[in-house]
Amino acid sequence: MQQKKEKWYEMLIKLEIDTENIKRNLEKIKEINQNVICVLKDDAYGLGIESILPVLINEGCSYFATAYIGEALKIKNIVKRDFPDKVGKISVMVLNYIEENELKKAVKNGIEITIFNFEQLEKYVRVLKNEERIKVHIKFNTGMNRLGFDEKETEKLIEKIKVIPNIDIMSIYSHISDVGNEKETEKQIARYERIVSIFDKNEVKYGVKHIQASPLLFKYKGKYNYDFARVGMAIYGMEPLSEKTGLYPVVKLSSKIINIRKLSKGEKVSYGSHGILKENKTVGVIPVGYAHGLQKQIENSSAYVLVNGKKAKILGEVCMDMIIVDVTEIPEIKIGSEVVIVGKQGNEEITLLQMAEWAGTIQDDILTKWNKGIKRILV
Ligand SMILES: *Cc1c(COP(=O)(O)O)cnc(C)c1O
Repeated sequence: MQQKKEKWYEMLIKLEIDTENIKRNLEKIKEINQNVICVLKDDAYGLGIESILPVLINEGCSYFATAYIGEALKIKNIVKRDFPDKVGKISVMVLNYIEENELKKAVKNGIEITIFNFEQLEKYVRVLKNEERIKVHIKFNTGMNRLGFDEKETEKLIEKIKVIPNIDIMSIYSHISDVGNEKETEKQIARYERIVSIFDKNEVKYGVKHIQASPLLFKYKGKYNYDFARVGMAIYGMEPLSEKTGLYPVVKLSSKIINIRKLSKGEKVSYGSHGILKENKTVGVIPVGYAHGLQKQIENSSAYVLVNGKKAKILGEVCMDMIIVDVTEIPEIKIGSEVVIVGKQGNEEITLLQMAEWAGTIQDDILTKWNKGIKRILV
């Protein structure tokens, strides 16, 4: 049994998830490719499978991808509990590695797994009794050099799987590593096409093909539509490309002012000596810090939060569970005033992309770091 997480700071920080905007993002995705495998890996990019899955099922999604078998089982259990009429109609594939001793769970629950090298294939075949059928996706490496068989291994792989009686090949898939680079992307696609044609030439039965994730989908639109698109970040409102694609923001992380003080020029703020004031200031303290997933690196940027619809710059170092911000120019500031760390307030907005730039990282890294103790609220 997993122990229930204690939410010590439940009253102090909240993460709101905009379900309407998830739906609007899904529509945008489906305008390009109708058939979507919704990626819920790493607890739905940190937002929580429990929160996100029902929204997606209610929107008609029936194919999901996770990183781990535990997440896939969680999806199956939520379906059994909350969507009994959907049992048997929801498919879940695992993208990451499964230990042999967990394989039977996949068989028993109809969970689809990924096979990406020969050692894994042989181990799995040894573990599975002949009568147990397993659903597998075969992953090919077309350039990312992370997981997957290489093109030159295709024929050897086909020979091996032809004599395994109990696997159902659900798909042949790959992943694009450098969507910004058109030449490289086209090379990867061409490699994938050649691999698929070897399967076809050998008359190996397989289900479907998929290669699109959010960046490929939004950059090339329908150009590389195979049977499915595997989409994560676009659902959650992250921008898949460096330019705006019109996706809607999904998350709002907010807190409140818990202390206010007036300081004079020359006084220091927070740890160390970074926060020496060049003028008199009023500062506010907010109970959010790196323990909650606020990247400490943002203290070296022009990062700000929003208070009363205005920008309040972060001053000095980010602490474990607090930050200090400049509220000198903010009228009617008081203890309890709402503070937005990511999201909209008044006419201002801090996007995940903006936060990622401040932290010198990517949007997914911001989202997945927000501590599980922060209450997720569907709005
Ligand atoms: C994470 C992942 C996806 C989804 O990628 P997004 O860019 O978030 O849409 C698709 N396929 C694989 C193999 C992945 O690891």
